[in-house]
Amino acid sequence: MAEAPETTAPEVTLEEVVALCKRRGFIFPSSEIYGGIGSTYDYGHYGVLLRNNVKNEWWRAMIGERDDIVAIDSAILQHPRVWEASGHLEGFTDPLVDCRTCKLRFRADKLEEAQCGRKPSKHPGEFAECDLTDAREFNLMFETQVGPVKDQGSTAYLRPETAQGIFINFKNVLQFARKKPPFGIAQIGKSFRNEITTGNFVFRTREFEQMEMEYFVPPDEAEQWHRYWMDERMRWYTELGIRPANLTLRPHGPEELSHYSSATSDIEYLFPMGWSELEGVANRGDFDLTQHARMSGEKLEYFDPDRGEAYIPHVIEPAAGVDRAMLSFIVDAYETEEIEGRKRTVLRLHPRLAPVKAAVLPLVSRDGMPERARELYADVRAQVPAEYDEGGSIGKRYRRQDEIGTPWGITVDGQTMEDGTVTLRDRDSLGQERVPADGLGERLAARLGEPWRTPKLG
Ligand code: ATP
Repeated sequence: MAEAPETTAPEVTLEEVVALCKRRGFIFPSSEIYGGIGSTYDYGHYGVLLRNNVKNEWWRAMIGERDDIVAIDSAILQHPRVWEASGHLEGFTDPLVDCRTCKLRFRADKLEEAQCGRKPSKHPGEFAECDLTDAREFNLMFETQVGPVKDQGSTAYLRPETAQGIFINFKNVLQFARKKPPFGIAQIGKSFRNEITTGNFVFRTREFEQMEMEYFVPPDEAEQWHRYWMDERMRWYTELGIRPANLTLRPHGPEELSHYSSATSDIEYLFPMGWSELEGVANRGDFDLTQHARMSGEKLEYFDPDRGEAYIPHVIEPAAGVDRAMLSFIVDAYETEEIEGRKRTVLRLHPRLAPVKAAVLPLVSRDGMPERARELYADVRAQVPAEYDEGGSIGKRYRRQDEIGTPWGITVDGQTMEDGTVTLRDRDSLGQERVPADGLGERLAARLGEPWRTPKLG
């Protein structure tokens, strides 16, 4: 990998990212017409496409490019004993304090990150009028009722992580996937946490999506696979365009480790609000399988025919958030520059992540150009996600595509009508080359398969 330039400070504010996401229809605050509901977001057209691409790239890395991992899609509602076994009922808590004066709630361990309700320049507890309660433990799981009768036996929980849906299917997968350790089970899905403090846009919300993979290994190989997955996951982000200087791997101190983990390292990204967790890579040991075996009475182990004995595999878990990953890709790609005296905002997204790969634009809306462009659009769209746009000046249309990160602009002009060539505009270099319209879709599809390096690295 090439030397990364020193990155000293985030180049974009969160406000700028939020504004772009709203302006271009990536992400909207949820329930806006009713005044919004704190920290929930709806994804618009380009947001959905970008999210899908992030997830597709994760699936590609997990199952497309290797054959030791299988997919699963488990239910959000699971037997309540799952959460007893996993330790979530008992231990998935954050310490909460209330302020009797301003009626706000804070995480007791994050007071220095919060603002006092009466005097925002101070932290809760620092202002004379603050009146904080003692801290009490607050379980982050959302409780709900299954079935029409609300009684004790009907309590269920919205899953706070996707991982447990994998552990409880360990036996099914072992039987049907014909895998032996080391092998993995991967899942993408929604998780829910009743976070006390949310914020920083989609960084921390109460409903979010996770991409988690549990990799089952012989116990004596756990450390080596832990290192392997830390490297793999760092590589995934950098190959998709995140600059290495904005990523770091931070091992958890002993006091930070979750109840199930013997070692965890967070992959952190330099978000506009500072270094924050993007993904955790944990060595969960045999905690989960042992717990579920104990609670369910099922044997959750692997019989190794070579050794002639059964053992409980250890588990290495890379656990990422779709929303955080997407936010980091947008932040890292965001750039503003001045071109011929005019400001241009551009998302320099990896072409495979870009919601739209090519925009087909007639130079003007006359002289047969729209018709020719529409024909070409149909050809290109059959190969790569594309858009057709004929409204407004060509400059404005390019700017719009730059803001959603479209890597290629294809313009049909007078010359196209004569010799069948079009201009191909590159989002990053702004270079324009004259190329044959015939077969252009296929050529762009082929370019999507090539390695890519963000132009921000020079
Ligand atoms: P944090 O310390 O930020 O609360 P965590 O360590 O509790 O995160 P994990 O349980 O390891 O998070 O979950 C794995 C990943 O899921 C995180 O790295 C993050 O990308 C994502 N994630 C967790 N909680 C949230 C949330 N409330 N909103 C959005 N994404 C989340």
